[in-house]
Amino acid sequence: MYAARVRAEALALLHRGESLSAAARATGVARSTIREWRDGEPGTGPGTCPRCDDLPIDEEAYAALLGFYLGDGYIARAARYSFLRITCDLAHPGIIDDVVDLLGRIRPGGKVFTVKKSGCVDLQLNWQHLTCLFPQHGPGRKHTRRITLEPWQQKIVSTHPGPLLRGLFHSDGCRVNNWATRVVGGQKKRYDYGRWQFVNHSDDIRDLCTWALDLVGIPWRQSSWKTISVSRRDAVAALDALIGPKT
Ligand SMILES: [Zn+2]
Repeated sequence: MYAARVRAEALALLHRGESLSAAARATGVARSTIREWRDGEPGTGPGTCPRCDDLPIDEEAYAALLGFYLGDGYIARAARYSFLRITCDLAHPGIIDDVVDLLGRIRPGGKVFTVKKSGCVDLQLNWQHLTCLFPQHGPGRKHTRRITLEPWQQKIVSTHPGPLLRGLFHSDGCRVNNWATRVVGGQKKRYDYGRWQFVNHSDDIRDLCTWALDLVGIPWRQSSWKTISVSRRDAVAALDALIGPKT
C-alpha cells in the first residue's frame, strides 16, 4: 500500500499535465498503479452530462461560469478528459470562493484543483463533458475566433443576464473610482464617483456583455475599441446591486 501522500503527489503531477510515465518516474510508483488511481478518481470519469443526458443544469451558476470562462478561462484536452481553467487574481479571495462554488454546482461531486501561480491561481475542473457545456472552446485565443452562443445558451443567459455579467465584470472588468472637487456655497467639496469597465479584445464577447446589459436595462457606452463603460451614476448603482463588488 502506498501512502496517501504518494498517491496525491502522483495525481497532482497528472493534473499539472505530466504524463503517466513522468509521474511514475517522479514518484517511483508503477505506471499501471498510477493509471488505476487516475481512472478511479471521481471527477474524471464520464459521469452524467446535462447536454448528452438531457439533465437539468443549475442555470444561474452556468450563466455566471460562462461569464468567467469567456473572461479569464480556457478549456483544453488532457489524455482522457477536458479541463476548464479559470484564472483568478489572489487579490480577490471572494471571487475565488465564488468560482469554486460555481464549478461545484456545475459538476456536483467534481473536485476543483488549484494551481498557484505568481499573483494568481488557476481553478481547474476536469470532466469529459466540458466541451458539451462550453462549445465555444477552440484553438487559439478567444478574440481570434468567433464566439457565438448556441440557442440553449442564449435561453439561459436571457433568463439570467445578471450572473453572466457578474462573471464577465468580475474577470475582465474593474470598478474604477474617480473623484472631483466642486465649489458649493464657497466651500470646496469632494465628490466620488465610480464606474465599471469591461475590457476584452473579442468583439463577440463585448457584444455579449452589451446584450446582457441591455437585457437588464443598464445603459453603457463603448469608451475605447476594447472597453465597455458603465458610468452614469444610476447605472453604476444598478450594476453594483446586480453583481456585487470585486472582493
Ligand atoms: Zn456531454
